[in-house]
Amino acid sequence: MDAPVDLRSDTVTRPTEAMRAAMARAEVGDDVYGEDPTVAALEEWVAELLGHEAALFTPTGSMANVLAVRTVVGVGQELLCESSAHVARAELGAHAAYTGLTMRTWTHPRGGIDLPAITALHAPDLGPFFVPTAAIAVENTHNFAGGTVLPLADLQALRAFADSVGCALHLDGARVWNAHVATGVPLATYGGLVDVAAVCLSKGLGAPVGSLVVGSADAIAESRVWRKRMGGGMRQVGVLAAAGLHALTHHVERLADDHAHARRLAEACGVDPAGVDTNIVVLDVDDAPDLVKRAALEGVRIGTVGARTVRLVTHLDADAAAVDRAASVLGRLLASPGRETRR
Ligand SMILES: *Cc1c(COP(=O)(O)O)cnc(C)c1O
Repeated sequence: MDAPVDLRSDTVTRPTEAMRAAMARAEVGDDVYGEDPTVAALEEWVAELLGHEAALFTPTGSMANVLAVRTVVGVGQELLCESSAHVARAELGAHAAYTGLTMRTWTHPRGGIDLPAITALHAPDLGPFFVPTAAIAVENTHNFAGGTVLPLADLQALRAFADSVGCALHLDGARVWNAHVATGVPLATYGGLVDVAAVCLSKGLGAPVGSLVVGSADAIAESRVWRKRMGGGMRQVGVLAAAGLHALTHHVERLADDHAHARRLAEACGVDPAGVDTNIVVLDVDDAPDLVKRAALEGVRIGTVGARTVRLVTHLDADAAAVDRAASVLGRLLASPGRETRR
């Protein structure tokens, strides 16, 4: 039997031979002393790509989000975000635990920006009796909404609103690379609309580890101190930064293949491929755990994101042949009467 096709997440990729070779020959130094040239090169390049002054390498995207957000939101202040945002749902309360902030949310079916709702939520600083809104976070692409891309015009309108009320914007850009490839909007355009951002190398780009905070030189200097305080100061970490440099060089444009593969899976599963913006397909089914179990028996690994929702994610370890195999298995399981049917 063929090796299982793993579509649970784009984090499951393993470094390619070429990436491992790049890691093996990386020049390194002690990065806590600021002496790792490969980390410095990665930070410089990512800052430039996103149109910001500086960047900081972190072990995870969650840490990058916490560090970035804490540069714009203080203790007892609030962050507004969409209700299924990763910062609200999937970071185990880190922003509350470390930063001491609170969150309020709006809800959008595609994880998008609802400006009237945000305007209604926004709380100006009314003195020491009410929580003031310090920042708004957006997620592009939006993970739990199904890899959806935030329309550029919505981001621009949000920036104008934030400027008008004097509040900051954070971009959770774990998959901003996918948004860039899907739309052709330059990374620096996305980056230029926000005060701080977090980006991941370990999702579709296929690096084994690594994310970055991006922002002003001051924000990054502050984040460097807090990264160390949180236990995230890393030493000869250029071996990991080299994987990121390799991924940025070789694995960005190919994300278009993952997007085509996701549309192919959507079609096979009876989902309108026009609603699949990037590399994630969300399926509503009668019994998600049952479908997961039966797909696994046929060599296709998928994940649940709810009792009636499964998620398929394409990536560079699932080539066209593997995706075709998964499409035929899932199409058959979803079509078999009396079992899971598309709702
Ligand atoms: C994966 C992800 C992160 C960061 O996750 P880590 O597992 O901590 O690296 C942040 N935001 C989004 C939208 C993500 O998908």
